[in-house]
Amino acid sequence: MGGIDIGIHRIVACMALVLFIVGHILATPQGALVGSRNPTLDNSSEILNFQQYGTPGENNGTYEIENGDVGTADIPTFHWDWEIRDNVPELKTFLIEQEQLQEMSSEIQQIIVDKYEPSDSYNGQRENATFLILCRNDDVFDLLQTLRLLQDRFNHHYNYDFTLLNDVPFTKDFIFLISTFIPRGRLNFGSIPPEHWSYPDHIDQERAMQARLQMDDIPYGNSDSYRHMCRYYSGFFYKHPMVRQYQYYWRIEPGVTFHCDLSYDLFKYMKTHDKKYAFAISLFEYLASIPTLWKSFKKYVNDNIHTLDNFSLQLLPLLQNDDIYESYNLCHFWTNFELADLSVFDNDQYNDFFTYLDNLGGFFYERWGDAPIHSMAVALFLNKSQIHWVNDLGYSHQPYSQCPQETQLYVDNKCTCDPDVDFSFNLLSCTSHFLKVINEDKDSG
Ligand code: GDP
Ligand code: MN
Repeated sequence: MGGIDIGIHRIVACMALVLFIVGHILATPQGALVGSRNPTLDNSSEILNFQQYGTPGENNGTYEIENGDVGTADIPTFHWDWEIRDNVPELKTFLIEQEQLQEMSSEIQQIIVDKYEPSDSYNGQRENATFLILCRNDDVFDLLQTLRLLQDRFNHHYNYDFTLLNDVPFTKDFIFLISTFIPRGRLNFGSIPPEHWSYPDHIDQERAMQARLQMDDIPYGNSDSYRHMCRYYSGFFYKHPMVRQYQYYWRIEPGVTFHCDLSYDLFKYMKTHDKKYAFAISLFEYLASIPTLWKSFKKYVNDNIHTLDNFSLQLLPLLQNDDIYESYNLCHFWTNFELADLSVFDNDQYNDFFTYLDNLGGFFYERWGDAPIHSMAVALFLNKSQIHWVNDLGYSHQPYSQCPQETQLYVDNKCTCDPDVDFSFNLLSCTSHFLKVINEDKDSG
C-alpha cells in the first residue's frame, strides 16, 4: 500500500497540525468550539466538542426527524429551520443521535440535511442534479477548500444538492462541517453497501494480492482500496439510492480547484443542448494498469455486435487507432471531473458491459480504472453531439489543469489560472484528438 499509505499519513499529519493550532487559538474559558484535547486523531476522529450541547434526551433536542423522500426508504432528515437564527445546537443533537443509531444498525448510512430555502429565487428552475463526491472522513478539509471554490465560482447562484458517499459511515464531525458550510440546498450523506465495495466471490484473493505486489511500480499499483474505488465508480455509484434520484451528477473530488466564475447553469446547458457527458481534461492511461482491458473490450463489441447495432458507434475513434490492429490509443476522459446524465450508465446495456468486465477480474488482477471504462461506455453508447468539453471553468486536479485561453474570459469571469499551464493541447493530452472526433468547436461553451 506504499503510494496510498504515504497519502494517508500526510493527510493525518496535516489534520493533526490543524487541530493542534486551531485548538490552541480557539480555546476559550467558556468551552472551546473546537476541542484541543487530542492533536493526534483517534479512530472516531472527533474534532468538535459536541458534549457542550448535551446528548439526545436532554432539553435541547427540539428538532423533528422527518423522513426524506429518497426511494422508499425512511431516511432521517434534518430540516434546517429558516425561521430561527441558530440551527447548530439542534443539528448537533441530531447528529449525535444518528451516530448512536448507526452504531447499532446494520443498514447503510443515509442521512439528509435539508437546507432547501423556501424563498430561494432559483427554486423551480433547477435541473434534477447533484454534485457527487466519494471521499473519506479524513478528506474533509481538502473538500472544504474545494467546496469554497465551487460555491464562489458557481453554486451560490443555483444551490444544487450535494451527494457524499463513503465506504464507511461519515462521522458526525464530517457531516456537521459540510452541513454548516454549504448554505442552501440538500445534502445527502450515504455509505456504500458492503457488497459494492468488497471482493466478489469469483475473485481469487491470493492471486489479487500477488498482482498487487507485482504492480508496485505504477501509481496505486499495490493499493487494494484504490481498486475498490475504481470498481465502485465503474459499476455501482449509479445504483446508490441517494444518487439514483437525480438525472445529472457532477463528480468532484477533495482538493480539486476551479479557476473562473461560471455565469450560467452548466446543468441547464447540458439539458438545453441535449448533452449527456461533459469532461474537462483527458489523458493517456498507464498501459501497465490495463494490459488486457482493450482486448476484452474488443471481444465484448464483437460478441455483442447485434445489440450494439442499436448504437451508432460513431465515437469508437475516440479510443481506437485507425490501424489494421484496431488498437487502443490509451485515451480517456479524466473522470475526477465528470458531469453526466446518469442514464449513460444506469441502464441494462451498460450493466451488461460492466458485469462482463467484472467477471474477467481485471479490477483486481490488473488495476482497471473507471476512467478508461467510462470512456468506453461513451464510445459505445453516445453520439458526437452528446459530448461537451467544459473549457471555460478552469479546472485543476494535480498535476494537470484546464485553463481558458480567451483574454475576455479572464476579464469577465475573473479567472485565476495561468493560460500557459493549460494541459489541453499538451502532448500527453487527448483533447485535440477528442475534439477532432466529436467535431466540437473548442471555443463553444
Ligand atoms: P486519483 O485521483 O486517481 O489519484 O485517486 P484519488 O485518491 O483522488 O481517489 C479518487 C476519489 O475517490 C477521490 O474523491 C477520493 O476521495 C475517493 N477515494 C479514493 N479511495 C477511497 C477510499 O478508500 N474510500 C473512500 N471513501 N473514498 C476514496
Ligand atoms: Mn484524485
